[in-house]
Amino acid sequence: MEKKIVVSGMRPTGRIHLGNYWGALKNYIKLQDEYECYFFVADWHALTTASERAPLRENSLLMVADWLSAGLDPNKCTIFRQSDVRYHAELALMLGMITPISWLFRNPTFKEVLVEIYRQKYKGQEDKMKKSEGAMDAMASSHGFSDEENMALNSELSNYGFLGYPVLQAADILLYGASYVPIGKDQLPHLEMTREIARRFNHIYKTKVFTEPQPLFTSAAVLPGIDKRKMSKSYGNTVELSDYGSALEAKIKKMFTDPQKLRANDKGNPDGCVVFAFHKLYNPNSALRERECRDGAIGCGACKKHLYELINPEMEKMAANREKYSGKLELVEEILQEGAKKACARAALTMEKVAREAKLI
Ligand code: SF4
Repeated sequence: MEKKIVVSGMRPTGRIHLGNYWGALKNYIKLQDEYECYFFVADWHALTTASERAPLRENSLLMVADWLSAGLDPNKCTIFRQSDVRYHAELALMLGMITPISWLFRNPTFKEVLVEIYRQKYKGQEDKMKKSEGAMDAMASSHGFSDEENMALNSELSNYGFLGYPVLQAADILLYGASYVPIGKDQLPHLEMTREIARRFNHIYKTKVFTEPQPLFTSAAVLPGIDKRKMSKSYGNTVELSDYGSALEAKIKKMFTDPQKLRANDKGNPDGCVVFAFHKLYNPNSALRERECRDGAIGCGACKKHLYELINPEMEKMAANREKYSGKLELVEEILQEGAKKACARAALTMEKVAREAKLI
């Protein structure tokens, strides 16, 4: 029986951290055995944000080296870089021709990011903030920039690429005839946009060329950073997938714990303790650890040491796998090129159908 197709991409952030691993990569590794998977480096998407523009090529290679060291297998799935498959841009252009601008302004991410920009810009200036929020609504309903000054506030994100990224995202998915896209519940509006674009194209051209992809809700876990905030490189609070041994131990030692638990036999509260958040994922007896903490039967030092013992073997294994690519990123490049060939072959079939439906050929 033919396997269903799964497509997913990740922005190239360089070395990935355990938040990325538990949030997406672990699922990729599982999915590659069950589906025909296309996993890509979303390097064109990264161009919407200047901070991510930096060394995109190197970051892509480092990220894929981490994918491989964690167990993603190019013999089981297709791994490639978005910009190596030019059909993504071609299909995005075609889909852009039929996507109403109003849909893009309604995109929750676009609205949220802009509102956040206004919030920071107008901190403490309520009247201006209100005016900006009003402008946001006007934008969404009038399909246009009702206030040029508002859009000029942040030139980094007030570009077509950021507004139009759901169209590129739709192209990424529809190009491969994906049946499923692995997402968290919060990403459902994005997938819905892809489904709407597919439906609209099919309706306009009276065709069934696009399959509407379904969400594949995965049991992704959210890991906090060592300081309890969201794990993010920009906060400098990550545990990298490449950390093991003393580097890992040092990070675990710095993890935020219950500040009220000063002595080993003080009763503690594991809720909000970063070490315990990790125990929940790595320790099959985390319920016992919770009781021990609450009863004051273990100290934070011992609890952290135990966590290190739980995590380090897996991290050491990944480090050994990564050794193969250390200083030899050209091996990763070869894998990406092979993947691009496979992805191109599949994408070309879709693009030919699309061009036929649009009477371009
Ligand atoms: S004993 Fe463990 S779970 Fe409890 S506060 Fe300390 S580190 Fe956190």
